[in-house]
Amino acid sequence: MRVADMHCDTLLGLVEKRVQGLDTGIFENDLHIDLKKMKQGNYLLQNFAMFGHMEKLKDVMPLPEYGFRLADLFLTEMRKYPDLIGIVKSYQDIEDNMKAGKMSAMLTMEEGAICEGKLEYLRIFYELGVRMFTFTWNFANELAWPNRVIPGALAPSGLAAPGKFVPETEHGLTEKGFEFLAEMERLGMILDISHLGDKGIFDVIEHATKPFVASHSNARAICGHARNLSDEMIRGLAEKGGVMGMNYCPAFLRDRELWSPGQNVSLDDVVRHIRHIINVGGIDCIGLGSDYDGTNISFEMNGAADMPMLEQKLREEKFTEDEIDKIFYKNVLRVYKEVLK
Ligand SMILES: [Zn+2]
Repeated sequence: MRVADMHCDTLLGLVEKRVQGLDTGIFENDLHIDLKKMKQGNYLLQNFAMFGHMEKLKDVMPLPEYGFRLADLFLTEMRKYPDLIGIVKSYQDIEDNMKAGKMSAMLTMEEGAICEGKLEYLRIFYELGVRMFTFTWNFANELAWPNRVIPGALAPSGLAAPGKFVPETEHGLTEKGFEFLAEMERLGMILDISHLGDKGIFDVIEHATKPFVASHSNARAICGHARNLSDEMIRGLAEKGGVMGMNYCPAFLRDRELWSPGQNVSLDDVVRHIRHIINVGGIDCIGLGSDYDGTNISFEMNGAADMPMLEQKLREEKFTEDEIDKIFYKNVLRVYKEVLK
């Protein structure tokens, strides 16, 4: 089965290796994702996020400079292997790569603060190839407020306990955030609601005129973390023709309070989320968004080469071939075809 994955933090993984003085590249490494593992896992397309930790970066370099450096890393690494993978900026590029037997790589931005609230920077990053954009990571910025729970309602573990979870619902997109939304739609950039707070997500559901994504978010009814989407959000996303990517981060798969000692998350948890999302939003709104290299993975599907395990599991769970096709790549490609120019 072909794989289209909407989110990984492998660029950050490469940066961290380089900070350690290692000359780690994208072809082969000990991260979750490299080109060799993607080939083994039969990948069609991987999004590579430019993740920025605002608080850690602010004393190191200006955020836009950090963004330019990550874009350069992405372009430089991918262009070393033109027979294996092609950078995509349009839907046609994806089709051309498929015809040429190559995988596709798309650049995305995870943390709108990298643009410092300037539409000029958004447009420059578009020119560099950014085709998907989260308004925030886990900090408030010029554009929007991130997912939060109301202090005092947090379980001691820092994760939301079932029944105690109270999301912050007052702060959404700022005026500038709405300007970015409109400019992204004009440019043909895909809006990504992952990491946004509840109000921001509903702001996008209400104002978006094209399909959008939650690139790496699961179902809140199955695991109550504020990063996951409520049923109302899933329905809103599905009604706009959007798609949400299954995230393998343990904290988004199962509430910690439901774990038995020594027990870990498993592919069964992934299947529970997928089933729920299909029940709520239909088969057309579910895709993949691994969060590989952005989270610890504590089950057997420990990297790109292992993706056939999920395919096998879904077959065992009696999903049809059509359903598996949609989950693995067809829904994601449908949205890309509709939004990218
Ligand atoms: Zn993330």
